[in-house]
Amino acid sequence: MRAMILDKPGQALQLRDVPKPKPGRGQLLVRVNACAVCRTDLHVVDGELPNPKLPLILGHQIVGRVQEIGEDNNLQSEISNQKFEIGDRVGIPWLGWTDGECLYCRSNRENLCDNARFTGYTIDGGYAEFTVADARYCLHLPDRYNDVEVAPLLCAGLIGYRSYRKTGNARLLGIYGFGNAAYLIAQIALHEGRELFVFTRPGDTETQQKAKVLGAKWAGDSDAMPPEKLDAAIIFASVGPLVPAALDALAKGGIVVCGGIHMSDIPSFPYADLWEERVITSVANLTRRDGEEFFKIAPRVPVQTKTETFPLEQANTALNRFRAGELSATAVLTIAE
Ligand SMILES: [Zn+2]
Ligand SMILES: [Zn+2]
Repeated sequence: MRAMILDKPGQALQLRDVPKPKPGRGQLLVRVNACAVCRTDLHVVDGELPNPKLPLILGHQIVGRVQEIGEDNNLQSEISNQKFEIGDRVGIPWLGWTDGECLYCRSNRENLCDNARFTGYTIDGGYAEFTVADARYCLHLPDRYNDVEVAPLLCAGLIGYRSYRKTGNARLLGIYGFGNAAYLIAQIALHEGRELFVFTRPGDTETQQKAKVLGAKWAGDSDAMPPEKLDAAIIFASVGPLVPAALDALAKGGIVVCGGIHMSDIPSFPYADLWEERVITSVANLTRRDGEEFFKIAPRVPVQTKTETFPLEQANTALNRFRAGELSATAVLTIAE
């Protein structure tokens, strides 16, 4: 099969012919139709995340069809009866495997599993014609979306959703960084009646305008104060100095949620800014329950995605344009038969 391979961080991916993977016990062999590109892929390529599998096939927002089922596929998810048959459409997200046994798994926090494996990071992902995945971590996808449309929901949507849920019932919600995840989550927040305050890179009036068109009550520069104190803020940009900035914009008891897997260092700030029960938290990975909840809600809103497609062979172009901030939509690799 054709695959785009990362041999070493800091290098371009190489197009290679590699053996088609074989599904083991409980695994699905999936023919990949589309795989969205995530900022995490960039962090892996750029060597900002430790210890990736090498060589590695990136990609953790995979949409494909089941072509073969490894024996004992009847292992069922603990939380739902997820069964797949040959020909079924399937979504493969970031969380690829957990041990089911550690303290975290046993307390409904499989996203924190000590031994978790991650698609396109510690196990091979979807920048390829085929991939194998543990059936228990695969998701059924809503029919309303085609393969390209639904791909960005598998990470930007899902992990964004987990970040959003951490804000509880916040009425006044700030979002720092209005990229792919923010765009998807803003639609749910507005649908649920939240008042949205969007912060962008200073001077990026074009993005601020987009946020207002979508329904944000206010949009401005990330170093500006919003007109009202916020109940919560989600930071999607990987910029550490936004943490004290967001904290400063919070009302008492408010929460700052850092939604990314990697962030530059956070500068120090006075304890008074944290006082009065303000909270700073990060969001790590996702649980299968997040996936199931999100894919129920997304088609109801309905959350719309914006995509720009690239053939598999042009994965490097997609990554480079993403890194340079030249994409105005989520890049999705499409894999031709
Ligand atoms: Zn575990
Ligand atoms: Zn991702």
